[in-house]
Amino acid sequence: MEIKIHTLTENTANYGFLAEWGLSILVEVDGMRILMDTGLSFSAVHNTQLMGIDLSTIDRIVLSHGHADHTGGLREVLKIKGETEIIAHPDIWTAKYVERDQEGVKYCGIPYSREELESRGAHFNLVREPVHISDNVMTTGEIPMLSGYEEIENNLFVKEDDLLHPDPLADDLALVIDTEFGLVVILGCAHRGIINTLRRAQNLTGKELVYAAIGGTHLFRASKERIEKTIADLREMGIQKIGVSHCTGFRASARLAQEFGDAFFLNNAGTRLTLP
Ligand SMILES: [Zn+2]
Ligand SMILES: [Zn+2]
Repeated sequence: MEIKIHTLTENTANYGFLAEWGLSILVEVDGMRILMDTGLSFSAVHNTQLMGIDLSTIDRIVLSHGHADHTGGLREVLKIKGETEIIAHPDIWTAKYVERDQEGVKYCGIPYSREELESRGAHFNLVREPVHISDNVMTTGEIPMLSGYEEIENNLFVKEDDLLHPDPLADDLALVIDTEFGLVVILGCAHRGIINTLRRAQNLTGKELVYAAIGGTHLFRASKERIEKTIADLREMGIQKIGVSHCTGFRASARLAQEFGDAFFLNNAGTRLTLP
């Protein structure tokens, strides 16, 4: 079994590619092309042209959650692809807000109406449970928060009746590929915690060995203690490749690089991988 992973959008980029705050990863497996997230704006579509990838050939879109930095590229992708099934959790459509020091509270959800995206060919398959996409590929569905040390950031909100409530990010999910060499997990932002996400993948498949975790790990504001606990748990899972992106942050990236050596890489825009 061979898996190809092309990173289309990331906060940083390889030579010649466009970078933007966001994530978009194309996975080729089981004879299918699955697009996980679409970045913030047009970088995913721009970079596919440089990579020689034809987005009109994708089979499914999976949205890891409803934040704009993962969904903002939908319009551009749908202009090329047209009719597409989009797998996600129903809470992607909650009114999501973020509070930042300089800017105050701002809307950070999907920057389009559902009607507009549907008129461009989106067919939303919104479910809370895992979805089987092919023999070896599934989404995690809702991720239980069991690690005891991973928390959702307290500056993320949903607005209901003009009131802001903490966003439980129930829509946060990942893509799981069950292979003979271990689990390969493609992460969006891992708002519910990278370890909670990987444990969910283990529980769904009954497999212990996590071969690779690739994508956003949301450790950019994590305490030293949380980073060390995360490393210990990743070690216990037997991880062979850790390709961090997006919301990992410099401090956690540096610590993971130091700890995992050659198993570690920065997974940025323009990165192409073939596994195993
Ligand atoms: Zn997010
Ligand atoms: Zn993000």
